[in-house]
Amino acid sequence: MELEEINTVAVLGAGNMGHGIAEVAALAGYDVNMRDIKDEFVQGGYDKIEWSLGKLADSEQIGEDEADAALDRVTPLVDLEETVADADVVIEAVPEKMDIKEDTWTDVEEYAPDRAVFTTNTSSLSITDLSEFTDRPERFCGMHFFNPPIRMDLVEVISGEHTDTETLDIVEDLAEDFGKTPVRVRKDVPGFIVNRVLVPLMNEAAWLVDEGVATIEEVDATTKFDIGLPMGSFELSDYVGIDVGYHVLDYMHEVAGDRYEPAPMMVEKVENEEFGQKSGTGFYDYEDGDGADVPMDDDLFSETVKERLLAVLANEVAYLVGDDVASPEEIDTAVKLGGRWPKGPAKFADEYGVAKLADALDEAYEASGHPRYEAFDYLATVAEEGGFYDQDEGDAEGAPDFDTLEVSYPGDMVGQIELSRPQQMNSISLELIEELDAAIDLMDEDDDVRAILLTGAGSKAFSAGADFMSIAGGGADPFNAVELSKYGQETFGRLEEVEMPVVAAIDGYCLGGGMELATCADVRVATTRSEFGQPEFNLGLIPGWGGTQRLQRIVGMGRAKEIILTAERFEAEAMADYGFVNEVYDPDEFADAAVEYAEKLAGGPPLAQRFTKRAMLKGWDDVEAGLEVESLGFGHVVASEDVHEGINAFFGDDDPEFEGK
Ligand code: NAD
Repeated sequence: MELEEINTVAVLGAGNMGHGIAEVAALAGYDVNMRDIKDEFVQGGYDKIEWSLGKLADSEQIGEDEADAALDRVTPLVDLEETVADADVVIEAVPEKMDIKEDTWTDVEEYAPDRAVFTTNTSSLSITDLSEFTDRPERFCGMHFFNPPIRMDLVEVISGEHTDTETLDIVEDLAEDFGKTPVRVRKDVPGFIVNRVLVPLMNEAAWLVDEGVATIEEVDATTKFDIGLPMGSFELSDYVGIDVGYHVLDYMHEVAGDRYEPAPMMVEKVENEEFGQKSGTGFYDYEDGDGADVPMDDDLFSETVKERLLAVLANEVAYLVGDDVASPEEIDTAVKLGGRWPKGPAKFADEYGVAKLADALDEAYEASGHPRYEAFDYLATVAEEGGFYDQDEGDAEGAPDFDTLEVSYPGDMVGQIELSRPQQMNSISLELIEELDAAIDLMDEDDDVRAILLTGAGSKAFSAGADFMSIAGGGADPFNAVELSKYGQETFGRLEEVEMPVVAAIDGYCLGGGMELATCADVRVATTRSEFGQPEFNLGLIPGWGGTQRLQRIVGMGRAKEIILTAERFEAEAMADYGFVNEVYDPDEFADAAVEYAEKLAGGPPLAQRFTKRAMLKGWDDVEAGLEVESLGFGHVVASEDVHEGINAFFGDDDPEFEGK
């Protein structure tokens, strides 16, 4: 089957996942038959799709027409035969119970056309077992979305024992057409990739506390602020639902042995029905307490905790790679997208040193004798080879290996730096600023590069602003707000100082920190669909990466004040009128036009360019003093109640009430 032959997608189950998957498929232009067992259930799912499409339209992520058309493509149904009779693909998202899935697939096989491909969204059941309920196990595979499907970019496409390659290929094509990133899971192992990594991590955290190695606070502070994951291990457990993690773990325990024995703490929480956020208590208290308020305090960091957690992760990755389930790159992509990690577990392990982690695992095994510390065979091989990734790669060409940026050379004497966190709208993390610093060095030192082209990956955003999550969890050396502001100011400012021309090519959102970055380019070109703004005031913040100083230099103080004080969004044409954008292009011609623009400047006289840039920069009044005030001001407001209010309102989708405190 080819992608073009897929018109109708049947989604079974209109619950949490089913309605989200149906929405994604409808937005991608497919006719969707969505089925649940009762009218009220399927209608409930349909209403949620309508609400969600409305939200997307309100926030202008899609047009009203697009929202209406997508909803029109969804048919809510209860009759199974009607649901699947004309389906090209069936996606099953009924409850995670083997008997319900068995009944469902037996019936589907009876009514679905022979051409239809079958997929299941199961999180933990065996794809092979499920495929055997049908007469076409070779045309059956896992299509594992993440919650909520509309926002999470990852789809694990899982091969059962009988699945043929053509089926995996077409389901991957479909996932891509849904706008998602598919990652192939070549074997039907419990937990697939993302849960296989996250669930043992949460379990190890609980064991460490159970065994008296550390407190919950120490484990979470270490996970979030020393290792640099988006959440503490216990915070994550509470967020996902302790019962949900436990369920996957229990299945892994049953199928893959005692190394996955759930920690006593987890069992106790599940027995007491303390599931985390959704039940009001878990490892943290969400009703009377502050919830998961992980302290950013380096006195709480524990090297043993860090080493044990990373060792358990490295061991799972070694298993997946050694057993040919997925490559380190695929695992890292999956966990970055599915867990919103700043980098993948293979990369974390490599950076810490796999040999050190393998030793730590052996020592822990000797000390505790628990099977969870037993190394998989392949871990020793990885340790010997020096890591999951080829250590010489990149160095061979002298190019550093960036996680958040891509560096390329698209035109004559043009070096391109692309912000590359498309799933996070290219938001600016600490790591990205560090890498940008290094990428500017790389361009500066390269005699063959005479202009820099700065872009954002994907078509949604140049950059939607600062990544608050990763900045808060920014690694071993938490920056305070003033330093963070200065660091961004300085690094972005290097684009003004570098002696060759810099062109920012903007397609999509260019907001907050993203706009401050673009402001430092010498020239800005944009697509008609781009949107600009400094929305900091909505959060009670101020622009802290140069926005209060540099923007007024380009658009004048009046316009700069308008942009910052209103916190509104401005279209590319308006920004061209304001003098911020130099050229506006149609999206279709943009990629070529941007490179051509940069090439034109790259062909200019380097000495004249150098002295012109230098003179213009020197000619500024006392911008240094302005920047100093900005960073101190940023540091001052960051800790204010207003920012707390602004951020809460932002996430709660409310209007903030600022009180100047
Ligand atoms: P849910 O309970 O929210 O939804 C399941 C829906 O299926 C219910 O509305 C139920 O009435 C309906 N249903 C029951 N029998 C049916 C049948 N025979 N035909 C059609 N519908 C039927 O559950 P969920 O969270 O959406 O999970 C569904 C599947 O997705 C499970 O296999 C789960 O493991 C998997 N999954 C869940 C998540 C998550 O975070 N919730 C993430 C990834 C995968």
